[in-house]
Amino acid sequence: MIVMKFGGTSVADARAIDNAIALVVRQKNQHPVVVLSAIAGATDILLKSAELSVAERLDEATPLLNDLLERHVLIAENLVESRSAVQQLIFQLRNRFEELKNLSQSIAILGELTKRSLDTIASMGELMSSLIFAEAMKAKDQGVVWVDARTFMVTDDHFGNATPLFSEIDLKANAVITPHLIKHQIVVTQGYIGSTLRKVTTTLGRGGSDYSAAIIGAALNALEIQIWTDVDGILTADPQITPMAKKLRTISYKEASELAYFGAKVLHPSTIRPAVQKNIPVVVLNSRRPDSTGTRVVAHPPQSNVAVKSIANKKGITVINVQATRLISANRFMESILDVFDRHHTSVDLVNTSVASASLTISNTETLDSIVPELEQFSDVVVFRDKAIVSIIGERLHSTVGVADRIFRSLGDIDVMMISQGASELNISLVIDDRNVTQAVQRLHKEFFEPLPQEALFENIATS
Ligand code: ADP
Ligand code: ASP
Ligand code: MG
Repeated sequence: MIVMKFGGTSVADARAIDNAIALVVRQKNQHPVVVLSAIAGATDILLKSAELSVAERLDEATPLLNDLLERHVLIAENLVESRSAVQQLIFQLRNRFEELKNLSQSIAILGELTKRSLDTIASMGELMSSLIFAEAMKAKDQGVVWVDARTFMVTDDHFGNATPLFSEIDLKANAVITPHLIKHQIVVTQGYIGSTLRKVTTTLGRGGSDYSAAIIGAALNALEIQIWTDVDGILTADPQITPMAKKLRTISYKEASELAYFGAKVLHPSTIRPAVQKNIPVVVLNSRRPDSTGTRVVAHPPQSNVAVKSIANKKGITVINVQATRLISANRFMESILDVFDRHHTSVDLVNTSVASASLTISNTETLDSIVPELEQFSDVVVFRDKAIVSIIGERLHSTVGVADRIFRSLGDIDVMMISQGASELNISLVIDDRNVTQAVQRLHKEFFEPLPQEALFENIATS
C-alpha cells in the first residue's frame, strides 16, 4: 500500500479536489490510503472563530463559520453530480456546522476556551474536507470508504500538540484500515486529528497532517509516503523567500528532518521519524505538476560532493541569555537551566554555553513568564524577542573546509547574535534579527546555489 497526503492548497476548491482525485485513481493499483488536510485556510478560520467566541464576539464568529460552511457547500455542489448524494452531503456538513455553532455559544457563555474544545473545533476542517473528497470520489470509483482517523490515531491528552501512542495505533490502524485495502477499497481519512483512549478529539499540532501520513504509513508498512503539496519538492530554500530556489532530487532522512525542524514548512518536523523506523521513502510532490518527480527522502541518497543542500529559516524566535549570579559548577549550571525548561515542557532549539553563561532559543513563549523568575533564582536573565534562526544544512557540511568562512563573508553587515555549529553534524545555525531573514537567506542562497553546483542532485523548477 501507499499513503497519499494532500495539503490544504491541494484540496482548496472543487478543481483542486478533482485533480487530487485523478492522482489517487491513477495509483489505484497501489492500494492508496488518502490522508487529507482541511481546505486551505479552514483551520485558521476555525481557530479564529473560537477566539472570537471566548471574547463574546459571536456576532463576528458566526459569519466566519457561515462563510466557511458556504465554501464547503459550494465545493460539494460543484463536485458531486448525483442530486441525492449532494443533498445528503450538504445535510452532513450543515449538521457539523450546527455542532460547531453550539460549541461556540457554550464557549461564549462560559467565557472559557480550553485546549480540549479548541481541538474539537480545529478537527472540523479535516472531517469536512475528507467527507467531501470521499463522496466526490465515489462518483468516479465505487471502491471508496471514509474512515474517521479518531478510530485509530490514538494519542495522549496533550491537547493542541498530542503525542501519538504508536503501539495502539499500529494495532488499530491494521484492524480498521487493512480490511478495506484487502477489498481493494481506497481509504480516505483525515490528517492532523486523533483521539485519546477515552475518545476525546485531539490534534497533532499545526501542519500535523504530514505527521499523520507518516504514522499511518509506518503502521501499515507502506511502500511509499507521498506528500502532495504546492511546490515541486524540497527546495534549496523557501521559494517564498527566494524565487531562485531549486529542487533537490533526493535528500537523506537526517537532512530532511533537520530542515523541517529548523523551519522548512514543507514537512512537519516529526514527519521523518516514523518513516525512518520502517525505512519507508517519503516523496514530496507537487499536485499542480504531477509529472514532476518530486524529492525522495531516503536513508542513503546517492553520494554527492555538495556540502550545503538547503537553507531553512524559523522566525519568531526568542533568545534568553542567562548569566550565573552565584558560584555554581558549569555542569550544575546547565543542568539547572535545562531543568527549568523541562519542567515547563518548553523545548529549546539552540543552546550556546560558556562557564558561567548560556544563551538559549525557544519558539514557544507561552511559558516564558513562569520560566524567567525561576532562572532568576540563580542568574541574571535577559530576553531578546523578534529573532530568527537561519540554518545551513547538509551532511558533508562539517567535513568541508571553508563553509563557515563563506557563510560569514556572504552575510556581510548582517548582525549575528548566536552561532551554533556543534549541536548536529549537519547544521550550522545562526540567530539574527527577524527583519533580516529575507536578506540573509537570499545572500546565502546566492553564495551556495547561484550558480548551481554542477550536480545531478539539483533540478530547476518550473516558474509557472
Ligand atoms: P501543505 O498545505 O501542502 O501542507 P505547506 O504550506 O504546509 O503545504 O508547505 C508548503 C510550503 O512550504 C511551500 O509553499 C513553501 O513556501 C514552504 N517551504 C519552506 N521551505 C521550503 C523548502 N525548503 N522547500 C520547499 N518548500 C518550502
Ligand atoms: N489543517 C491543519 C493545519 O492547518 C493541519 C495540516 O494542514 O497539516 O495546521
Ligand atoms: Mg503543511
